[in-house]
Amino acid sequence: MAYKLHIPGPIQVSEKTFKAFSQPMVGHRSKDFQELYARVQPGLQKLFYTKQPVFTATGSSWSVMEAAVRNLSVKKVLTCMNGAFSDKWYGVATSNGKAAEKLQVEWGKPVLPEQIDARLATGEFDALTFIHSETSTGTLSPLEEVARLKRKYPDVMFIIDVVSSLSTKKIPFDELGVDVMLAGVQKALALPPGATVFTVSEAAFKRVEQVAGRGYYGDFMEFRANHEKNMTPSTPSISHFYALESKLGEILAEGLDTRFARHLENVMIVREWALKNGFELFPELPYATVGLTCIKNTRDIDVAALVAWLKQNKGIIIDGGYGKIKGRTFRISSMGDETTAGIYELMANVSEALKAVTA
Ligand SMILES: *Cc1c(COP(=O)(O)O)cnc(C)c1O
Repeated sequence: MAYKLHIPGPIQVSEKTFKAFSQPMVGHRSKDFQELYARVQPGLQKLFYTKQPVFTATGSSWSVMEAAVRNLSVKKVLTCMNGAFSDKWYGVATSNGKAAEKLQVEWGKPVLPEQIDARLATGEFDALTFIHSETSTGTLSPLEEVARLKRKYPDVMFIIDVVSSLSTKKIPFDELGVDVMLAGVQKALALPPGATVFTVSEAAFKRVEQVAGRGYYGDFMEFRANHEKNMTPSTPSISHFYALESKLGEILAEGLDTRFARHLENVMIVREWALKNGFELFPELPYATVGLTCIKNTRDIDVAALVAWLKQNKGIIIDGGYGKIKGRTFRISSMGDETTAGIYELMANVSEALKAVTA
């Protein structure tokens, strides 16, 4: 049975995307590849609202999250933590030999600019890691306000994970003035997992030039040098470039603003369902993210049974909660290619499942 994925990544991949993904290989140093690379670039730049090159790394989001720390920090990294993904970044920094300090916030709460400001004021840091949309808790931290701190701390490199928010709402890289922005393609971009798109500011490149031990595979200088030739440092997942070409075409045909509005409509349907059925959102509403909903199990239902019923009876897979909030929450993804009609249908199925497991 083919399942319909409504977990927050990887998400459902369309037939059209798979078809694009499975086009024949070309040599990665060939003119054909260079042309493909060049065709994808303007769409990526529009998506990131940037004039900077947008790179595509072959590897999941962590490959670039790790590379960003290696490329940008010599002093100390402030790791902003408020959920499973952001919490991991501290260990990623220290395991790469970087000094790091935790800014730990309770799960489900956003990381706020005043909390970051207080730490950066010590002058100890030259980089910070920040997750815009913490997928494990469905929490959106106020990126715009945080990015404004960059003016006060120009020497601190702001590394921003937009893995589950890119293309769900406007995130204008150049205007924000942050230094690195990255997203794995298996979340809102609805591509098969295995690639990460990212961009790097001019200021960040000035830092990178001075940093030793950047590593080989994730060296940002290599990405930039190869980009000049419309190529990647090593053999990339060429399939992902085909899929990106197809997906960016769809995104731009729909229009970015229309896409953002659709994502908001979708998530509103899920949020309303949750409240109507006696649940609460895990984060406070102003900080609820757009691509998915993390629902607090305030009714104390058997979440595992709900998830299992949906899979068995409807072929739909939702998520039963991540890590330490497994069972206390459940998550439903409404990002990517999902239509509002599709989300209404999904929630009707979840209602049926809820009835069955609470009967
Ligand atoms: C999924 C996710 C990651 C991890 O991504 P991988 O592609 O598995 O490396 C990191 N950050 C956020 C916010 C995510 O949602």
